[in-house]
Amino acid sequence: MPAPTCASCQAARAALRRPRSGQALCGACFCAAFEAEVLHTVRAGRLLPPGAVVAVGASGGKDSTVLAHVLRALAPSLDITLHLVAVDEGISGYRDAALAAVRDQAASWGLPLTIVAYADLFGGWTMDAVARSTAGSGRSRSCCTFCGVLRRRALEEGARRVGATHIVTGHNADDMAETVLMNFLRGDAGRLARGGGLGSAGEGGALPRCRPLQLASQKEVVLYAHFRRLRYFSRECAFAPEAFRGYARQLLKRLEAARPSAVLDLVHSAERLALAPTARPPRPGSCSRCGALASRALCQACALLDGLNRGRPRLAIGKGRRGLDEGLGEAGPEDGAPGNGGPGCTPAATAETKAGPAASPVPVGPGEDGDGAVAALGPV
Ligand code: SF4
Repeated sequence: MPAPTCASCQAARAALRRPRSGQALCGACFCAAFEAEVLHTVRAGRLLPPGAVVAVGASGGKDSTVLAHVLRALAPSLDITLHLVAVDEGISGYRDAALAAVRDQAASWGLPLTIVAYADLFGGWTMDAVARSTAGSGRSRSCCTFCGVLRRRALEEGARRVGATHIVTGHNADDMAETVLMNFLRGDAGRLARGGGLGSAGEGGALPRCRPLQLASQKEVVLYAHFRRLRYFSRECAFAPEAFRGYARQLLKRLEAARPSAVLDLVHSAERLALAPTARPPRPGSCSRCGALASRALCQACALLDGLNRGRPRLAIGKGRRGLDEGLGEAGPEDGAPGNGGPGCTPAATAETKAGPAASPVPVGPGEDGDGAVAALGPV
């Protein structure tokens, strides 16, 4: 059966059905609609004021690639300046290749790029070194907790170096729904209550952060990358299979199969959640070492580094389990920090598996992931 005509332009053949609405669109109209929706999210949420210098957390993965591309297209309308900031966690065989993709993007889009490395910021610690240190401690599964906390700090530092006024990250709706689920599963009421908005205003002197793709589904992010012919990096981090996020992701996929609106329902449920006064966590203070926001004497990054430097990583995680495993390292909604295979990491492909081949060549080019995504969305 021939493909129907695009419901928007009424001229071209439709190339996909939008997962959310079922609307049959051609590639050009889909991309225009996607960009308009991101523009609406930014404007309605007053996320990026005119004149903002925006640090885009760039990992080379699909989310940050699409985010940077869309914001570059919207920059004149929004009157913002963009600067890519990438974090080198020191994961051999993984981040080196991803950073090569970021460099290519920066060069081809004419955007400035700054790379900050864990090794320089954190006294020589890399994620490879952290993994060696935690191996045998029974905490090797916590690599993503370390990584997420340190990554948030590194992105903040990189953004400050380039004079940014705001930080944006590529979390999409699926990432946010996974985080809501994880926080429910851990009973972390504080993070559930804090994580509902589209970003954080920048408490305690931190730069404001936001997630312009928070209402866009992962499938549509992949489709946008396909129709705009964007190249991105899609190999999974060696530490990702250990992450708790993977379980939340699998659960979410099952929920979504039974109830297609489950992803956005979860995202919106966090927006509407209100905590009883007795359940509210105390207002955070300042870290006694670095001055960052902290709910204890040391912020999470300083506490983790302290444990590592003493050769006792269990100290850093075990003692503060509720504060750390439930905390920033898990890429909570308001922290914007990739973690646990979330944005900034290349996730174990679940939605991408549905939308296209999980083990795509690296980097993925146009016509690979995207072709699978179009096919997976059914005949138009
Ligand atoms: Fe870091 Fe992500 Fe790898 Fe975990 S999966 S170690 S958060 S890069």
